[in-house]
Amino acid sequence: MRTAQPGRTGGMNMYQSYKTSRGKPEAYEKRRCSRCRGTGDAPCGICGGVGQVPKGADTEGHTMFARCDGCLGRKTVRCPTCGGERFV
Ligand SMILES: [Zn+2]
Ligand SMILES: [Zn+2]
Repeated sequence: MRTAQPGRTGGMNMYQSYKTSRGKPEAYEKRRCSRCRGTGDAPCGICGGVGQVPKGADTEGHTMFARCDGCLGRKTVRCPTCGGERFV
Protein backbone atom coordinates (compact mmCIF):
# COMPACT_ATOMS: atom_id res chain seq x y z
CA MET A 1 0.00 0.00 0.00
CA ARG A 2 1.45 3.29 -1.04
CA THR A 3 0.97 6.41 0.89
CA ALA A 4 1.09 9.60 -1.05
CA GLN A 5 2.84 12.38 0.69
CA PRO A 6 1.77 15.59 -0.82
CA GLY A 7 3.47 18.67 0.44
CA ARG A 8 6.74 16.99 1.14
CA THR A 9 9.56 18.90 -0.47
CA GLY A 10 12.54 16.84 0.44
CA GLY A 11 13.83 19.21 3.02
CA MET A 12 15.57 21.54 0.65
CA ASN A 13 13.89 24.82 1.09
CA MET A 14 15.50 27.37 -1.11
CA TYR A 15 12.93 30.00 -0.63
CA GLN A 16 14.15 31.62 2.49
CA SER A 17 12.97 35.07 1.83
CA TYR A 18 13.96 37.50 4.45
CA LYS A 19 11.51 40.16 5.15
CA THR A 20 13.43 43.26 5.92
CA SER A 21 11.45 44.67 8.70
CA ARG A 22 12.43 48.23 8.87
CA GLY A 23 11.24 49.34 12.18
CA LYS A 24 11.26 52.87 13.26
CA PRO A 25 14.73 54.24 13.80
CA GLU A 26 15.47 54.57 17.41
CA ALA A 27 15.13 57.93 18.89
CA TYR A 28 18.32 59.83 18.51
CA GLU A 29 19.03 60.39 22.10
CA LYS A 30 22.59 59.35 21.65
CA ARG A 31 24.93 61.45 19.65
CA ARG A 32 27.23 59.94 17.15
CA CYS A 33 30.71 59.76 18.51
CA SER A 34 32.69 62.68 17.24
CA ARG A 35 36.02 61.06 17.76
CA CYS A 36 35.53 58.10 15.48
CA ARG A 37 32.75 59.78 13.52
CA GLY A 38 30.49 56.85 14.08
CA THR A 39 32.84 54.15 12.89
CA GLY A 40 33.70 52.75 16.29
CA ASP A 41 37.32 52.61 15.30
CA ALA A 42 40.15 54.93 16.09
CA PRO A 43 43.61 54.99 14.59
CA CYS A 44 46.00 53.00 16.70
CA GLY A 45 48.02 55.31 18.86
CA ILE A 46 50.93 52.95 19.16
CA CYS A 47 51.77 52.49 15.52
CA GLY A 48 50.01 55.60 14.32
CA GLY A 49 47.72 53.68 12.03
CA VAL A 50 50.49 51.83 10.23
CA GLY A 51 49.93 48.42 11.73
CA GLN A 52 53.62 47.83 12.24
CA VAL A 53 56.18 49.10 14.65
CA PRO A 54 59.94 49.19 14.16
CA LYS A 55 61.60 46.39 16.02
CA GLY A 56 65.26 47.19 15.74
CA ALA A 57 67.45 46.43 12.79
CA ASP A 58 68.80 43.31 11.25
CA THR A 59 72.46 42.51 10.81
CA GLU A 60 72.66 44.63 7.67
CA GLY A 61 71.16 47.64 9.30
CA HIS A 62 67.72 47.43 7.74
CA THR A 63 64.98 48.43 10.03
CA MET A 64 62.80 45.53 10.93
CA PHE A 65 59.15 45.89 11.57
CA ALA A 66 56.88 43.77 13.61
CA ARG A 67 53.18 43.62 13.96
CA CYS A 68 51.86 46.24 16.28
CA ASP A 69 50.72 44.83 19.56
CA GLY A 70 48.31 47.65 20.13
CA CYS A 71 46.08 46.96 17.17
CA LEU A 72 47.37 43.52 16.19
CA GLY A 73 48.15 44.86 12.77
CA ARG A 74 44.66 46.12 12.12
CA LYS A 75 45.77 49.73 12.25
CA THR A 76 42.69 50.70 14.15
CA VAL A 77 41.58 50.08 17.65
CA ARG A 78 38.29 50.34 19.38
CA CYS A 79 37.43 53.95 19.81
CA PRO A 80 38.35 54.93 23.36
CA THR A 81 35.69 57.58 23.48
CA CYS A 82 32.66 55.51 22.70
CA GLY A 83 34.21 52.12 23.37
CA GLY A 84 33.27 50.92 19.93
CA GLU A 85 29.62 51.69 20.44
CA ARG A 86 29.81 54.47 17.86
CA PHE A 87 27.42 56.52 19.90
CA VAL A 88 27.99 58.36 23.09
ZN1 LIG B 1 48.88 49.67 16.09
ZN1 LIG C 1 33.90 56.66 18.99
